[in-house]
Parts: sequence; structure tokens; C-alpha cells
Amino acid sequence: MLNLKLTSFDTNIKPTWCPGCANYLIFNSLKRTFLKLNLAKEKIVAVTDIGCCGNAADFFSVYGFHSLHGRAVAAAAGIKLANHKLIVFAIIGDGGCYGEGLTHFLNLMRGNHDIKVFVFDNYLYSLTTGQYSPTTPKGTVTKSTPNGSIEDALNPLALSLINHATFCSRVFAFNQNQLNEVFEKAFLHSGFAFIDILQPCITLNKTQTMLWYQEKIKQLPNIPQTKEEALKLALDEKNLYTGIFWQEYKPCYHEQIKILKYKTLVNQREDIISIQKFLKDFS
Ligand code: SF4
Repeated sequence: MLNLKLTSFDTNIKPTWCPGCANYLIFNSLKRTFLKLNLAKEKIVAVTDIGCCGNAADFFSVYGFHSLHGRAVAAAAGIKLANHKLIVFAIIGDGGCYGEGLTHFLNLMRGNHDIKVFVFDNYLYSLTTGQYSPTTPKGTVTKSTPNGSIEDALNPLALSLINHATFCSRVFAFNQNQLNEVFEKAFLHSGFAFIDILQPCITLNKTQTMLWYQEKIKQLPNIPQTKEEALKLALDEKNLYTGIFWQEYKPCYHEQIKILKYKTLVNQREDIISIQKFLKDFS
């Protein structure tokens, strides 16, 4: 048993999120999960994106990589392939994941890369002071849509279900018990785990407020038995169901690569992984 406590995962840099932001709750729940699962700090890698949640790697006392906008999921998959003994998770906002990074998100879930993807989904680009994002409900007035957004909102949960993600979930950030339970299951899952975290941006989102969420959020009574049932619940626009929508077991991407069967890529012979011979072609 490791001798860790909740504060063992803190750095000496204090978060600068707005007082009352749900990011504090999510961050806390992640640390609780590491403790509960007795995960060694040196085995964990947090890959962050750009956005309010993007500076979280500074606050976690684990390995961290701050990626470019929309690239956190791709960077996480690359780190996992380089050393599949590590526990790798991505922290990314709805703009980065479903906007700039959508192709990475979809194609990596198809491969069942063994990474955990936590999407801080507040229906806005918040760091840039509140422009609409792919998940902003149609008609919402934001800084960039003064007459209301025109597009229908993207449905990330339905996308994950039909694109073969092996763990699909949606949670509400202010339901701490739900966060703890789903986060734990996501880290225990072998394969691509997707967690869409609904959270009101209390500073900038004046339409999808706490009250708006409270009226729409419902908890799934249990994990749906079929994908059709899961999809039907994910497509419900009147209610926002939360919980685990789908979980199945399939071999992970790295488990299907012969060269990684006995050794991690970083421990392979240098002549196999060295790029020097390729660089010579350009000299
Ligand atoms: Fe949180 Fe919104 Fe403040 Fe960003 S702007 S820190 S998402 S409350």
C-alpha cells in the first residue's frame, strides 16, 4: 500500500479558476480516484489541452504534458504507445475535443487506445471569455452568437457509442458521488474510456445555468443492456441522462502490436527505435 494522501497529488501552484467553478470538484475527484485505486504517482501521466481546464497539469503532482489546442487526446495516445505501462489520461474542454480535436477523438476511440478522456463540457469556449462551442445548444446567445447560435449541437455521447468507444459515460460535475464512482470505473477500464463531464460555467454561461441543468439531469437507473437502448437515451434532448451508457471489453490498440508484446517501445533496442537512419536521408 502506498503511503499517499489527497494532498500528495498537489503541487505548490494554486489553481486560478473562478471561485465556485466545477473544475475544483472534478480535480478533487480525480485525486480521490488515484488514492482509492492506490496508483503510484510516477505511473500517472496527465495530458492537458488549452482552455480553463488546460492548466490542470500544473496542479497535479504527476507527470504532465501540456499539449496544443485539440491535441491532448492524440498526445495521450502517443505517450501510451511509447510506454504502455503508464496510466495516461487526457483533460480537454468541449471546444478542443469536439472542435479542433474531433478527428483525433473519433479515430482514437475506434482503435480502443487505452487512455481515459475527461472532457470538461460547459458548452462554451470559456478561456477566451465565452464563445459558442460545438456542444452549445441551438439558439444560445453567447459573445460570438449575439442573435443565438444557428447550428444544432453536436452529441458527443451518441458519437462515442456509434464509433466503438468501449466505455461511454456522461456525468454531472456537481454530483460528487457520481464523479467518484464513474472516474474509478474509467481508470479500471482496459481501453478507451470517455467521460463527458457536464458543468455550468458559472461566470460566462447565463443560459445553461445550474437551474437549467438541475431540471434536465437524470441518473441512469443502470447500464443499458444494448447499444440501441444506450443510443436512444443519449439522443434524448429533453432529459440529460448521466451515468455509464456502455462498457465492453476488447483488446486495446497496443496489445495488438507484435513489437510491444514483451517490451514497451521505450525499452526496445535503440537500432529499432532510432530515427537517425531516417534523418540521414535528409542531410
Ligand atoms: Fe470555470 Fe467558467 Fe471560470 Fe473558466 S470561466 S474557470 S470554466 S467558471
